[in-house]
Amino acid sequence: MNQVRTRFAPSPTGFVHIGSIYLTMFDYIVAKKYHGQFIIRVEDTDQNRYVEGAEDALFRALDWFGLTSDEDPIKGGPFAPYRQSERLDIYRQHAEILLKNGHAYYCFCTKERLEEHRKQQESKRQPSMYDKHCRSLSEEEVQSNLAKKVSYVVRMKIPENEIIKVQDALMGEIEFDSNLIDDQVLLKSDGFPTYHLAATVDDHLMEITHVIRGREWMPSTPKHVLLYRFFGWEKEMPPFIHPPLILKSEGQGKLSKRDNVSSIDYYKSEGFFPEAILNYLANIVWNHPDGKEIYDWKEFEQAVDINTPKVINITSQAPKFDLKKLEWVNGEYIRKMSDEELTKRLQEFLVDHPNKDQIGPVVPLIKERITKLSDFVPLTDFIWEKPEYDMEVFKKIQPKVDRPLDEKINPPAGGQKMVLEKILGVMETLPRPWNAEEFEKSFRKLAEDDLPAGGQGKIKVGDMFQLIRVAVSGQLITPPLFESVKIIGEKEILDRVKWVVENFGEFNE
Ligand code: GLU
Repeated sequence: MNQVRTRFAPSPTGFVHIGSIYLTMFDYIVAKKYHGQFIIRVEDTDQNRYVEGAEDALFRALDWFGLTSDEDPIKGGPFAPYRQSERLDIYRQHAEILLKNGHAYYCFCTKERLEEHRKQQESKRQPSMYDKHCRSLSEEEVQSNLAKKVSYVVRMKIPENEIIKVQDALMGEIEFDSNLIDDQVLLKSDGFPTYHLAATVDDHLMEITHVIRGREWMPSTPKHVLLYRFFGWEKEMPPFIHPPLILKSEGQGKLSKRDNVSSIDYYKSEGFFPEAILNYLANIVWNHPDGKEIYDWKEFEQAVDINTPKVINITSQAPKFDLKKLEWVNGEYIRKMSDEELTKRLQEFLVDHPNKDQIGPVVPLIKERITKLSDFVPLTDFIWEKPEYDMEVFKKIQPKVDRPLDEKINPPAGGQKMVLEKILGVMETLPRPWNAEEFEKSFRKLAEDDLPAGGQGKIKVGDMFQLIRVAVSGQLITPPLFESVKIIGEKEILDRVKWVVENFGEFNE
């Protein structure tokens, strides 16, 4: 058996889509399972779509995921070059082979003629296909046009009236009527090949053993089958595997560029872990045999068996993308990480955080409460800085006082200020350093015994601690209160609560 060789063949069009990582995951795992090679071939033959810097962005993204290639345009390798724009001679030579053996022809049709023809077909609601006008040019006409340097493309001569059988590893055999297949352009007038010619030639020359590509390419497979035949490589055609596309979470269609969750930049900036994303991507097409959802994504290699027709035992059904589920997976990674590791990851992520070096003690407090690294900042900012208080947040805690305690706290909205004053009072007398038990006991007592004037009113203990939480942090949800208070320090806490009491009712109204 030959060495297993797979390839990821991106077109550098400026944006690293999560679907590219999903496809690369298959390439990588199939090659690695059999100690073969995983190749990156850059398909930059569409000059109109070329975006400067896109290739770099792609390599950075693959690095981030640890999807390291064995051969690529930068590393090189035995089949270099790996950038299609540097292989133009190879494609031209192969187009010439097809011209010579009668499987391709020169087409001199002008843009205007093609456009006119397309419009006519459109008005008759016919599929847009070339009318094969140049397929029947005489040898003299061809030679004379070439001599006159008339601009041309090379087209593939699709046989007529044939049923072309395509083997798709996941979907089995699919038949195509050759009369519905366009005489595909192979070589463009600028001398660049189209995808079909370049990919087929390269897959063959680079000895690719398994072609894994997006499901959107499935309809073009009969053209590839024919190209393998036209070149006489039929027996060496590798299995084609078209994993299902990832669909939008809502509505119709595939996850598109416009969905921000399709961009790898989104995941980097939100602080997802690449290994969690890969785990999620494996999960959406494969069931782990032990029913696990969290596992080292490389266990996905259990789904791979090149001796079976499917090659990769995944569903053929298109999965829907579910960000909530991915967040859950990522959160599980956070939880199983040691505090030290999570601290390190957070420090790497929070490059510009002014208190980066002091986050260590805070990490255990937030570990259960975040699903991605970016959640850390809004949850913990109050630890290092006095928050911007918002009156509305206090209003969400209406102390459930049974009866007005005195005239001043009627209407009940005023109740919060009164409770806050009492809280401040307790804090000022609480012996320092504060300890958890005393802290808890004193405020419980305040709620249960001291607040009700004459034993007639009551505030729920939960509301009491919520008021302390908001006075300390400005928010309703925080890491555990007492631990946060200890990190902030007694003096700063007193300053904050004092400020709140003094400014209550004035700020942000
Ligand atoms: N360059 C093609 C793309 O970006 C590659 C398709 C393939 O893998 O053959 O979609």
